[in-house]
Amino acid sequence: MQKISRSKIELSLECPRCFWLDVAKGVKRPPGFPFTLNNAVDYLLKQEFDQHREQKTPHPVMVTHMIEAVPFDHPEINTWRHNFTGIQFHHKPSELLVFGAVDDIWQNPKGELMVVDYKATGAQNHKIYDSYGRQMEIYQWLLEQNKHKVSKTGYFVFAKANKAEGFGFGKAALAFDLFVEAYTGDNSWVEAAILNAKKISEADKAPDPSAECEYCSYRKNAVKATTV
Ligand code: SF4
Repeated sequence: MQKISRSKIELSLECPRCFWLDVAKGVKRPPGFPFTLNNAVDYLLKQEFDQHREQKTPHPVMVTHMIEAVPFDHPEINTWRHNFTGIQFHHKPSELLVFGAVDDIWQNPKGELMVVDYKATGAQNHKIYDSYGRQMEIYQWLLEQNKHKVSKTGYFVFAKANKAEGFGFGKAALAFDLFVEAYTGDNSWVEAAILNAKKISEADKAPDPSAECEYCSYRKNAVKATTV
């Protein structure tokens, strides 16, 4: 069965042409710069929340934001968080195995699961981009398909670099402020997006490039300028 990741579904929405080049022709976008600082923040947050998962207690940032929940303890939590496995679901209408790896899951007193995503940022004003929302909604959808009781409320845990603190006067330590933003998900679009991704992957011809991306016109102009 063909697998499709959450990020590939996102690519199909961003630019059907790039998605088609990737899944139908095996031509992948060049990799971006590795987000090593983000990965380090993710790792540290996972460690912290795991301690509270074990103790069945809320993390202090959850208490500060008056979130009634604890990190969800489930035998499969590490599989769900692993990039190559994630939460999986066989979507029969498309015959695709849809998967995506969550950062964390919390559980409220009603027994509902709350999807949690960690975001590291150095920006002065953080933002919940549309793509962040879609990411959360696919995870909520995947959990629902696996017959879990899922809350529409999910959370973004932001770790924001505190530039005012500098490097701690010679200690070479960058401080981060931790805070949480709630997000109400609506995953009613997910099924249609999966079916559409399937349709694009089976197309014989390349779809049109995205109107918002300047690289295709750059590429076209570059070829024109260098062809004699
Ligand atoms: S428009 Fe941009 S995103 Fe789409 S195929 Fe061209 S380079 Fe890729």
